[in-house]
Amino acid sequence: MSTHPVVDLPVPLLISPEGGIEGRSRRYEKFLGDMAGVYHDEAAWQASVAARGADELIYWVDDHRYQDGVDGPGALIIGTSTLLPGRYGSEFAVTRGHLHAIADRAELYYCLSGRGVMLLETIDGQSEAVELTPGKAVNVPGHWIHRSVNTGDEPFVTLFCYAADAGQDYALIADAGGMKSLVVADGDGDGWKLTPNPDHTGYRPS
Ligand code: MN
Repeated sequence: MSTHPVVDLPVPLLISPEGGIEGRSRRYEKFLGDMAGVYHDEAAWQASVAARGADELIYWVDDHRYQDGVDGPGALIIGTSTLLPGRYGSEFAVTRGHLHAIADRAELYYCLSGRGVMLLETIDGQSEAVELTPGKAVNVPGHWIHRSVNTGDEPFVTLFCYAADAGQDYALIADAGGMKSLVVADGDGDGWKLTPNPDHTGYRPS
């Protein structure tokens, strides 16, 4: 009797520094109109929707995953995140952000192009911001809520890699009135700083 496992076949991937992955399994897209409640300055976001339209594409995520899923919980999802530049009041453009549904799952983010910040928070109130420019990376430990922020004026593109069983909990941030910190413009040029989010009510783990 054979004891060899069923295996996935290796797939070559071509990853573009401008974002995108040839050989991807899926693309996830977010439009300006999807970002209701995400930005502290709701009026500024509404003005952007009025000026640019709710159907303007603002970020997208391409990934590759083995659809058969025969690899078990150690399988990897690999992809690129592309977040276009923008400002809503003083706040820079962000992704919705999440905690992994299996919270101890870690994730690599490696900056391919543009400039930005990985905003990182824990349920118990720790807050960190890691600046990312091409060649810089962050190894996000488990139990850290994470969100990409574009602090530049070009697309902010990162390569990511995480465990295939991690999943994403998006409600945690929304239920807390947003993340604890905002990444806002600091003076001229591409300066940024963290400022407390007055809408944040604390995280309530489910
Ligand atoms: Mn993640």
